[in-house]
Parts: sequence; structure tokens; C-alpha cells
Amino acid sequence: MLTQINGLHHVTSLASGAQENNAFFTRTLGLRRVKKTVNFDRPEVYHLYYGDELGTPGTVMTYFPFPDAGPGRPGTGEVGTTSFAVPKGALPYWEARLSGHGTAGMIRTTRLGEERLIFKGPDGDGFALVETDDDRAPWVADVPEDVAIRGFHSVDMRLDPRGAAATAELLGFMGYDREAGEDNVTRFRVPGGNAAQVIDITEIDAAPADQGAGSVHHVAFSVDNRDTQAEVRKALMDTGYQVTPVIDRDYFWAIYFRTPGGVLFEVATNEPGFDRDEDRAHLGEALKLPSQLAHLRDRLEQTLEPIAD
Ligand code: ZN
Repeated sequence: MLTQINGLHHVTSLASGAQENNAFFTRTLGLRRVKKTVNFDRPEVYHLYYGDELGTPGTVMTYFPFPDAGPGRPGTGEVGTTSFAVPKGALPYWEARLSGHGTAGMIRTTRLGEERLIFKGPDGDGFALVETDDDRAPWVADVPEDVAIRGFHSVDMRLDPRGAAATAELLGFMGYDREAGEDNVTRFRVPGGNAAQVIDITEIDAAPADQGAGSVHHVAFSVDNRDTQAEVRKALMDTGYQVTPVIDRDYFWAIYFRTPGGVLFEVATNEPGFDRDEDRAHLGEALKLPSQLAHLRDRLEQTLEPIAD
């Protein structure tokens, strides 16, 4: 069993409009845009990162906004809900705030003793705010500190019964403990993690999801550094997983593998972080390009959809 995984690192999803996506995460949810770059494999598309002040692993929601993307069709083999942690008593504030911003799909509910507010993102993305004790410091700009988002609480994977069983086994191998469940939900938690340490599996019988705008593309797990990442990579490969080589994503090092339930997992390093190429006071403001794409700057600055700060 692995002991190197700290919890979530980032969650990456697909969007349609970059401007609308940026406004939702910065203005409505009050996160900080910590990086404005492009998809390194598809440089005509942005890669936008939103999180706490420095984009601490466990707080970072990222997007590829494809201007022409049609909506995804929900189903099995994907993350159905990405949840953010907020302080206890914060949900009435958020209900009023999200209503005022015209947010769709709001439902108040509880899961495993925690108060939740479910809502939809601009492309129908499945989100929840969950009230928890969480001592992570929030980014404070548009939302008051006592109710602001602390980072991720969890992701909830929607899996068919076979995928659920196999993924539960994988999470156990990755160091997650199985906790009590409720209805068709089973909860997993990595001990001593980074506060974004919960994974839920919702088991349903349904057709596989079709990825599109509003769908989660992959879930990234945090490891401290490249040495621990190499240990995880070897252990996964020894267990029979096909894992990519280590890829330099400029702000972290990444490996990817497809899980038996269909969800794409990544294992990303906490080093070097989002302040490696920008001053901390100005994170996310300039368009940053990796060195291999620097020659495209003039073209990209003309063709990428402008985003307000
Ligand atoms: Zn990623």
C-alpha cells in the first residue's frame, strides 16, 4: 500500500466560454486565478487555474475552455460532483450569493452528517459546498473571510458496480481508508492528508458519460516531490497499471493513468508551484507559456479569447 499520496492536488474540467468560466470562479466563487496559460498539448486553448492565494495543492480547480465545446452528457465513469469546503454556518450566505448570481441547480442536502449545497457551474458542472472544520486560510477578495472557500473537500466519482468495486480497491492501494457509507455512497479518506483528503464513490447503473463542456477531465492527486512520484509510478506499474512517463507541466510534474472505473487519474508533485515564473502578488495576470510554446506568443495573444481580470 502506498503512503505518498497527500489527497487531491487539482481537478481539471472542460468549459465552453473562457470569459464566463473566469467570471464564475473569481467573481462568484471568490477564488484567485493563479495561472493563465494554455493547454500544453492544444495551445490554441487556455488552461486556467483557480485556487487559494498561491494555488496550494488541494485547492486548485483548472479548466480547458474550448469555445465550441458542446455540453457533456452525465453518466458513469466520471467525477459527478466536485466539492469545496466552507466553514460551518456558511451555507446560508452562499445560498443567497449564488441565487444573486443566477446560479442553477441549487439543492440543500446532507451527506454523512455534513451540510451540503449542491449547485451547477456555467456549463452544468456538478459542484457542492460542504460545511466542515477546516483551518486552511482562504483567498479573500470578493467573498468575506469567515465564509470563503478553503479548498477542495472531495470529489464524488459516479461509477457502475464493477467500476466501483475495482476503484475502491485501487483507492485502498493508494493509501485511502474506507469509511462509513450512506445509501449508494462510499467514502474514502487518506489519513494525515492535506485537508482535500476525501473521495466519495457513488455507485449507479447508468450509461457511460460523454465528455463535453462541464465534464471533469481528470483528477490529480498530490505527492510531495519527484522522488515520491517515482515510487508511486513504479508501484502502480508493478500492479499492472499503464502509467505515462513523467511529464513537465511547468508548475508540477505529472503522470497519468486510466482507472478501472473509467476516470483518468493524475499524480502531480507539489513542486515547483505556481510562483515559479510569476511574482506572488501578480499570479495569474499575464499569459504564461512554457518554453516549448514561447514562439507562438504573438499568434496566441491575438487568437485567445480576451479575459477580464
Ligand atoms: Zn492535471
